[in-house]
Amino acid sequence: MAVQWVLVCHGLITLLVLVSFLCGQWPIFQGTFIERIHVFLTFGAYDYFLRFVGAVFGSKGTNAILSVEYFCCDRPNPILQIIYLAILGGTYYFVAKSSFGYIPGYYLSGVHRYTSLLAVGIGVLLFLLTSFSDPGTVKAENVSQYISAYPYDNVIYSEKECSTCKIPKPARSKHCSICDRCVARFDHHCGWMNNCIGERNTGYFMAFLLWHFLLCIYGAVTIGLILAGRLKELRVIYILTVYYGVENSFLSLAPHVVQWLLASYNTQILLMVFLAIVSLLLAGFFSYHAKLCLTNTTTNETFKWQEYISWQGKINEAKASAAALKASINGMSTEGKPPESKWRAFFRKSPLEDVQVVKNNIYDKGFFHNLHEIIFPPSMRSSFLQSKSKSG
Ligand SMILES: [Zn+2]
Ligand SMILES: [Zn+2]
Repeated sequence: MAVQWVLVCHGLITLLVLVSFLCGQWPIFQGTFIERIHVFLTFGAYDYFLRFVGAVFGSKGTNAILSVEYFCCDRPNPILQIIYLAILGGTYYFVAKSSFGYIPGYYLSGVHRYTSLLAVGIGVLLFLLTSFSDPGTVKAENVSQYISAYPYDNVIYSEKECSTCKIPKPARSKHCSICDRCVARFDHHCGWMNNCIGERNTGYFMAFLLWHFLLCIYGAVTIGLILAGRLKELRVIYILTVYYGVENSFLSLAPHVVQWLLASYNTQILLMVFLAIVSLLLAGFFSYHAKLCLTNTTTNETFKWQEYISWQGKINEAKASAAALKASINGMSTEGKPPESKWRAFFRKSPLEDVQVVKNNIYDKGFFHNLHEIIFPPSMRSSFLQSKSKSG
């Protein structure tokens, strides 16, 4: 029994750490202990460590740590890529070692030994495609093709030059300070891929997220079916009801079955919980990016729009309060006018409530068009047309 409690605590702590680390900054966790754990895991612990090193080794120690931080976080490096491969390989190894012995089983045919390997192989292939493909690097040779593919909206993008690359900056592009290059339709720099996510690899990135979500679901369901098969093959329900006299109802049987599973198949249960948690995180991440893709917005643009809307909102508010002030001054000077009814004044909308900023995303041309642009990047089309017109 003690072992089972250790396992349950282990599962809960893993869940808490994973959720706090990855989602602790979400607004729903604001002010909760999950946010505090997130701060500790992301900055707090590191800060204490830095202070500790400074106290023990002096400024030389702190400088050494800061240069390691610069290499890990501000320069392209394969650390997270190696961690991804280790997690994927490790999980597959533990699943194979603990569960392949039960395949084929009561509910599963032998083919899953091979389809699981194939599914992991496709996952690695999508990872390599996203990591090592060109995200749409803007160079002097191809800048014209990106400029013709993406018109300036003169709201969040206007004509200017990249101060580092010294070439015109096409609309929707951004200079990635980690990779030190301008990237077309820049979404974000992905540490896991050690690559930018831009015009030409957003499709691979989305396929990567979707595939890994399905992979986790496949793993969790397969392990679940293995355990259900073992329950059937070993006639656990029959033994519990006939030999141990447990009442044949779900509520009476469930605790005994869970206890038996935790005692006999703890590795499989832990793997199943881990896969379920990761699949939930991937589902959230995929849905967020799918919504962006379907509205033809990039992660970078969501920040730009937020900035634009809050800035415009402030301007409009200032204008509205200036107008309200002017109106009240005019009201004071027209003494002869009958006073406004108190009721009317109460229900009259404040001029500040009229303040509204509309987000007009000119790149959003409807669901199907946006999806088409992810699969067939517009700059590829324009480069094809350019080469065709040259040859023709
Ligand atoms: Zn640049
Ligand atoms: Zn980058």
